[in-house]
Amino acid sequence: MQAPFVTRFAPSPTGRLHRGHAYSAMQAFQAAKAAGGRFLLRIEDIDVTRCRPEFEAAILEDLAWLGLSWDGPVRRQSEHLADYEAALAQLRREGLVYRCFHTRKEVAQAMASAPHGAMESFRSKPLPTAEEARRLARDEPFAWRLSLDAAEVRLGQLNRLAFHEEGAGPAGETGDIQVRPDLGGDVILARKDVGVAYHLAVVVDDALQGVTHVIRGCDLFEATHVQRVLQALLGLPAPIYRHHRLLVGPDGKRYAKRDRAETLHALREAGVSPQDLRQEMGI
Ligand code: GLU
Repeated sequence: MQAPFVTRFAPSPTGRLHRGHAYSAMQAFQAAKAAGGRFLLRIEDIDVTRCRPEFEAAILEDLAWLGLSWDGPVRRQSEHLADYEAALAQLRREGLVYRCFHTRKEVAQAMASAPHGAMESFRSKPLPTAEEARRLARDEPFAWRLSLDAAEVRLGQLNRLAFHEEGAGPAGETGDIQVRPDLGGDVILARKDVGVAYHLAVVVDDALQGVTHVIRGCDLFEATHVQRVLQALLGLPAPIYRHHRLLVGPDGKRYAKRDRAETLHALREAGVSPQDLRQEMGI
């Protein structure tokens, strides 16, 4: 029997899709078809300040125009907050996260003055209990951060973990990639007022949806390192990764949601067909 193959396209409805998204979605769709597997659609809409329902509707319309259909219902992260809260509760129970009261400005300053400048990822420590209680009583905002120190106590040297990469990361790395926890630092997993942040939601969902292959742009290659640590801490299976190249425009810059003229919608209006796009992208 063939091994199961489940992949997904997971856009955030914070703007209209562009060529780069089309490339990613088509890669994942074609890989699923070639393997006789499943292609899932997940809407990553936990950031309520930036996500808008009209962008989700536009995503569905653009995917249909590209001729891509997905298996099963669309999973909307905003409808599954309890799943992420349960994962956070597990990490809290096991002492793997801590409340961080540093403001964004303080974090930026700490990173700028670190020996390696902005390259250094942020790491901190839990506050002494009395100090934390004082701040909580004052209702100060905080973020839940993953404690790499605690993760290391639990799992041993984190660089003994690895993830399997079948695509090409930015440096063209493939094979078993050793985890470099320093790339992410003590990442934020939730905030006092927002129950979950990207890294936690993505690993929980990939596991819950039975994703075997994560196919996405190589801008997320580095994020995989901390996501692998989270999978190990939560006892979740690690999918295989295929990070693909990022498309660049004529100016050599990668496509971004701010480039209005390059959205799939604008291309469609200008008479470009999905076949034209496939040809241009070589898929
Ligand atoms: N929602 C993320 C994005 O739009 C993608 C997450 C992922 O593929 O893991 O960039």
